[in-house]
Amino acid sequence: MTGEAVVAVEGLSRRYGQTQAVDAVSFTLERAQILGFLGLNGAGKSTTMRMLAGVLAPDAGRILINGTDLLDQPRPAKQAIGYLPEQPPLYRELTVDEQLHYSAGLHRLDRAASRQAMARVKEQCGLTNVGRRLTGNLSKGYRQRVGIAQALLHDPPVLILDEPTVGLDPIQAGEIRALICELGRERGVILSTHLLSEVQATCSHVQIMRAGRLVFAGALAELQQQRQSACLRIGLNAPPLVAELARLPAVTQVESLGGGRFRLHHAGAAPTQAVLDQARADGWELWELTPEQASLERIFVELTLGRGTAE
Ligand code: ATP
Repeated sequence: MTGEAVVAVEGLSRRYGQTQAVDAVSFTLERAQILGFLGLNGAGKSTTMRMLAGVLAPDAGRILINGTDLLDQPRPAKQAIGYLPEQPPLYRELTVDEQLHYSAGLHRLDRAASRQAMARVKEQCGLTNVGRRLTGNLSKGYRQRVGIAQALLHDPPVLILDEPTVGLDPIQAGEIRALICELGRERGVILSTHLLSEVQATCSHVQIMRAGRLVFAGALAELQQQRQSACLRIGLNAPPLVAELARLPAVTQVESLGGGRFRLHHAGAAPTQAVLDQARADGWELWELTPEQASLERIFVELTLGRGTAE
């Protein structure tokens, strides 16, 4: 664990009956990092978020928030966390100001501190003009802003957001993502999502969960680099039998794409020279030879479903 980590987690586990919802998860988060927890429904994201936020006890593991052990010293550790649960705790019959005032009270802010904090979070979350509106009458996007504003009232260095854009239309989701990017400039932010595009738009780092376990953790760029697909796409006017292509050195699989095009999966270095030599020798009439990189989408599917070269 580094000194700069605002969240450091070791061996976090939680079981519900027979279901191992979270299994020995370890990671760290630093200030100014936005970490996306990515996984399909049931992968264990919410369970992890709830343990990090201190609202669900782990069966095993250690969580340090800003250097304070969450399990040993829950009060100061929780002071450093802002948490937006999957269902934000909003009272629809309260105005935005009343809602924030109530939450400020829960954080034990006195009247002056509360007024200052409310002005700050309303400004940060674009709520300045809706203080007197009933929360229940706001759009879902604005209600989500109120949820985030509540989480920011005590100005925590760590923000934990459980599926912050779920159910929002694309415009609202984009606005919330922009807000998260802004908030992540000076905090550590963890968000969960099942959308790869959300991670791409928002996060510096990604952790992919499957069946309670982390199957990838690193910078988004690393995900693509490490999982570069070992494929060559070729186009031939006079193709041989697929079996012949499969006999080329290092080729592990041949996909026929139609129209004389094939995808050659290979282990190790691309068999580019062998393809050129064989094409010339056998008159395949090569017209395309393209190294392919797997799209992040494909890598994500492989990792979340445990297919291909995922592990
Ligand atoms: P979603 O995107 O659907 O919220 P998730 O990745 O957040 O999914 P979790 O909600 O953490 O996943 O669930 C992980 C596993 O634990 C799932 O198999 C789920 O059915 C199970 N689970 C979650 N909460 C409970 C509970 N209160 N009681 C029993 N099992 C639970």
